[in-house]
Amino acid sequence: MNPDFETRLDAYAELIVCVGLNIQPGQRLFVRAPRENPALVHRVARAAYHAGAEDVQVYWEDDVLDLIRVERAPRQVLDQYPDWVAYAYNTSSERGDAFLLTFSPDPALFQNQDPERADLFRRARVTALRPMLQKQARNGFTWLAARVPTQAWAARLFPNAAPAVQQEKLWDAIFSMCRVDGGDPVAAWREHLDALEKRRAYMNAKQYAALHFKSLVTDLTLGLPRGHVWEGGQSVAENGVTFVANIPTEEIFTLPHRAQARGYVTTTRPISINGVLIEQFALAFENGRITRVVAQNYQAALEKMVASDQGAAHLGEVALVAASNPIGRSKLLFYDGLYDENAASHIAIGRAYRFSLGGGETMSAQEFEDAGGNDSAIHEDFMIGSSEMDVDGILEDGSREAVMRQGEFAFEAS
Ligand code: ZN
Ligand code: ZN
Repeated sequence: MNPDFETRLDAYAELIVCVGLNIQPGQRLFVRAPRENPALVHRVARAAYHAGAEDVQVYWEDDVLDLIRVERAPRQVLDQYPDWVAYAYNTSSERGDAFLLTFSPDPALFQNQDPERADLFRRARVTALRPMLQKQARNGFTWLAARVPTQAWAARLFPNAAPAVQQEKLWDAIFSMCRVDGGDPVAAWREHLDALEKRRAYMNAKQYAALHFKSLVTDLTLGLPRGHVWEGGQSVAENGVTFVANIPTEEIFTLPHRAQARGYVTTTRPISINGVLIEQFALAFENGRITRVVAQNYQAALEKMVASDQGAAHLGEVALVAASNPIGRSKLLFYDGLYDENAASHIAIGRAYRFSLGGGETMSAQEFEDAGGNDSAIHEDFMIGSSEMDVDGILEDGSREAVMRQGEFAFEAS
């Protein structure tokens, strides 16, 4: 039987503070959280002070107020983000505070609004917080994306449950996806992160020239650029502190060569993109480029996305995830990239991360592209792994080694 709710909530908060953010004595913590569900943040604050944090500041988000603003505010203020909020984010980031980002995005929030007004509102935030977001992108401070339930999100996942139990069910799902079911989640996470670390070290040492994905519905070969770097699990921030940027996280990932994908691939899970649910689709590749899209629904929307810019028809990420992980086993669809991306091995169309290539962060745009990196305004992950998927690593000389068999890692990493 599961420990009671309060015990698991405390364990989740401890996991966030001690493993995710790895709060250091004297450090400050900045939290972004939904106002409607403060219980976790209160526990996090307690655990953070216990770990030696100097201060904990919280910015409460309110989806309903955001909706009212998009609906009613005069157009000339829609592109203005409040100065005092931007100041709070940007000064915290400059000081090197830890950031906990627990907001739970509701992709359907603005669905009945004028898209242009919604877009102005969203862009104002990104523009005002650019200093913080840029520093976050290069791990200039320790940060963690995690989730707490909101009523809208819970209702989307469990539409048939009574409203009173929807959030309870979502909490249960979050706890078990984040391995906070058992006795000692912090120990369970140390073991999990150690396994991810060993896998990525093994793959980095191998430096395969290509990966071959094969199942009944997929036959895809992805070239990997020389100097590609497998990441996953823990990261190290500029201040030298180790942290985990996502809880949950199950993947090791790198970038495929933008010009060397060939074959075809079929998705193995529905994908929620901008609030629409695409059941299944298949893509064909030649020389790294998507040459054909076949979708069960929203075919036109997918084609439009693939054509949205130069890099949107190429790949920017390949990630390996064991099919037996808690999210994969649950078969739940979370309508949220943080969770859904970790369900299975996946690839992403669009932008590659600069840090996925050795020296990539200091390359010019042209150098990055010449080395095999892809750039785009979009980055959309879709799941291709399953318990039927085999993955081979292909070495420079063309010889093959087993990387995954029937969805599980096939090598013993030590
Ligand atoms: Zn990924
Ligand atoms: Zn991704």
